[in-house]
Amino acid sequence: MNKAVILDRDGTINIEKNYLFRIEEFEFIAGVPETIRSLNKSGFKVIVITNQSGIARGYFTEDEVRKLHGYINQELGKYAAHIDAFYVCPHHPDEGCECRKPNTKLYTAALKEWEIDTARSYMVGDKTTDLTPGKQLGMKTILVETGYGKQQIYDARYCDYQVESLKEIIKILC
Ligand SMILES: [Mg+2]
Repeated sequence: MNKAVILDRDGTINIEKNYLFRIEEFEFIAGVPETIRSLNKSGFKVIVITNQSGIARGYFTEDEVRKLHGYINQELGKYAAHIDAFYVCPHHPDEGCECRKPNTKLYTAALKEWEIDTARSYMVGDKTTDLTPGKQLGMKTILVETGYGKQQIYDARYCDYQVESLKEIIKILC
């Protein structure tokens, strides 16, 4: 069984921009590539789970999201870092799908595909809706104060740790 860090994307690894899909607008939050490298080296699978309702809204396509994710891994490669997998919910909130966070479908898919031991794994995000599914499935959860994180209210029921930004998680994990 593997240990994993499951990351939210927008506001957690990159600067939150509304409906980001353009490669030229993508910006890592400071320290993120180095942090992902440390996680890779420490034997964590690094998986991103992201809601991208911009696909259902017609703002961009699944293919454009795939290209952006390819670019993210290409940039991480410059730091000898990588994300093992991206899981994307393309639906509109009104569709009532089972994969849009805080629903657990993408989490359970990732846990199964990557044979993840939840007891040794973490979920990191800037919204409580990122954390609640992780908590529900037995992971430890970390709220980052980047993105929308500052506006979230820390609640020990679903949030085990709160840190300023992703790079601070190393102190907790490694
Ligand atoms: Mg986010």
